[in-house]
Amino acid sequence: MTATAEPTATAAAQSDAAGEPAGTDPAAAFAELYGREPEGIWAAPGRVNLIGEYTDFNDGFVMPFALPHTARAAVSRRDDGVLRLYSSDVPGGVVSLRVDELAPHSGHGWAAYPAGVLWALRAAGHPVTGADIALTSTVPTGAGLSSSAALETVTALALNDLFELGLTPAQIAVAGRRAENDFVGVPCGIMDQMASACCAEGHALHLDTRDLSLRQVPFDPAARGLTLLVVDTRVKHALGDGAYAERRAGCEEGARLLGLPMLRDLPYEELATALTTLADAGADESVIRCVRHVVGDNHRVEQVVALLDAGDLRAVGPLLNEGHVSLRDDLRVSCPELDLVVEAANAAGALGARMTGGGFGGSAVVLVEEAVAGTVAGAVVEAFAAAGHAAPGIFDAIPSAGARRLR
Ligand code: ADP
Ligand code: MG
Repeated sequence: MTATAEPTATAAAQSDAAGEPAGTDPAAAFAELYGREPEGIWAAPGRVNLIGEYTDFNDGFVMPFALPHTARAAVSRRDDGVLRLYSSDVPGGVVSLRVDELAPHSGHGWAAYPAGVLWALRAAGHPVTGADIALTSTVPTGAGLSSSAALETVTALALNDLFELGLTPAQIAVAGRRAENDFVGVPCGIMDQMASACCAEGHALHLDTRDLSLRQVPFDPAARGLTLLVVDTRVKHALGDGAYAERRAGCEEGARLLGLPMLRDLPYEELATALTTLADAGADESVIRCVRHVVGDNHRVEQVVALLDAGDLRAVGPLLNEGHVSLRDDLRVSCPELDLVVEAANAAGALGARMTGGGFGGSAVVLVEEAVAGTVAGAVVEAFAAAGHAAPGIFDAIPSAGARRLR
């Protein structure tokens, strides 16, 4: 691996989606670093999950939507087996790799995400012979908003187009997930990449993670006089990593004791009986709690879908609160900062709020009447200051487009 210098001039600020902060132009960095124009520019968004948490590794349902924040890639093909990667968001300059030497778990820091995509495509038999890539992103990193999936998806989409691989959006998502699971080594589910690849503007994605069947459900809070705030707590507690594996094991144990392939296979109507069965069988309390959360949250996804279809967005609020309580008390993946967002937002008049993503930090979503969105955001900021926490990042999450070619 070799590294060269940063471009000396930063590119002009740009933004093409409502609600997207200005970012840098990857084409200018590309031209400066690689000495030619890119063949194209692609964008893939971060996401926020409205409801359905810790359900994707149980073959369950999720309900993400795309953010206006995107990762962008300026890309050209190479036919000499070289992959060059650059991100304007991290120091270190260009990372230069050989495609035939790419191997899982071999380091490369941030570059493992896009390099892993190229590896995954080649491992699936696609003739990707190398590329020059310049990346830039407005998706906050490590905030539970899937900056990693945005990076993977934009890379996979660009390579799909340039090498004419003919992949569907779902196949692009699968390549990204394979990169993250098998190359980088992060055991994430398929939700993040599917959201980045498949979401549509003004919609949330009702996704069945068992067979990747999906439906675009109209979701336009602003049209109903509502605002969906994302509150980035800016904290990440170390407990998170082992806890994910532990919850996953708890879910698998619950399904095994109930004689089910996956917890997804337990209908909500049978939850109470199943919990009694588990208690009678001497199941660990933590296993019982995992089952209750997953089956409950799966059911909440279905309830939210019905409400969105009926145009009753305000009624989603209490379900967000229910979901948060379940994640806090049953799954135990929240943290004081996330609980404080939910508590302060509700006390200031929000319709409902919940942590979103893996928890132990990261972000929360808050559904609020547009007229009091500023008041509620101010109350959360004040509560953080009073508790001695650093100021959270708050923005209006406008359901935006999925991955696309820009030019
Ligand atoms: P999340 O996906 O929730 O933002 P992750 O820990 O899954 O958090 O992914 C964050 C990692 O993805 C970063 O540490 C970095 O390695 C990589 N990454 C994300 N965005 C960029 C970027 N713009 N440039 C370089 N690396 C990035
Ligand atoms: Mg991620």
